[in-house]
Amino acid sequence: MKALEVLASLLAPPRCPVCDEVLLPGTQCAACAPALDRLAYADCRPPCAVPGLSGLRSGWRYDGGIQEGILRMKFASRPDQAENFILLLLSRPGMCTFVREFDIIIPVPSTKSERRARGYDLPQLLGRALSRRTGVPAASHLQKVRDTRRQVELGGAERRRNLNGAFAAAGPVRGCRVLLVDDVTTTGSTLRECAAALRCAGAADVWGITIAATN
Ligand SMILES: [Zn+2]
Repeated sequence: MKALEVLASLLAPPRCPVCDEVLLPGTQCAACAPALDRLAYADCRPPCAVPGLSGLRSGWRYDGGIQEGILRMKFASRPDQAENFILLLLSRPGMCTFVREFDIIIPVPSTKSERRARGYDLPQLLGRALSRRTGVPAASHLQKVRDTRRQVELGGAERRRNLNGAFAAAGPVRGCRVLLVDDVTTTGSTLRECAAALRCAGAADVWGITIAATN
């Protein structure tokens, strides 16, 4: 382990993102393993297809301990759990190899109000952690170009309308294989609109990766 990593693990020791117990570096939580296995998608393939994405990989169903852990990471001032969730996600079989097939990791843009409320940009933290652990560069090459209503307040068709044209590429993506990262996907509307903006800017291929999916 590098000196900086030792220091970082002392300041913010690795924790199980599900039950929040401190873990020895490089180990996983034995107590949560059975519950995680029950929520895991076979081959990290959730059943939902997102039009506009070539494919989507998610670790687990958004339920039980995974849901609790994600809510803690989002709403209880726990940005450290982004790193822990990414470590857990990359421990799934084939996940590291999958991520390394991409040219660039791009986080789904969060809204100003989300950043203000949390004090951190969660998809960006997930993207950086994914980049650190796989060596694939991460860049915020997408931006939100207009305000939208909160997706959680809306139904499926409304969600799509709400986001139509809301994103635009904000960096060079022409010819790139892009991996979009977010914490959870529900209807896939956000990933779909982000993918459309990236394809418009010339991205060769766009996939998505999330920790969890709701179906
Ligand atoms: Zn645990």
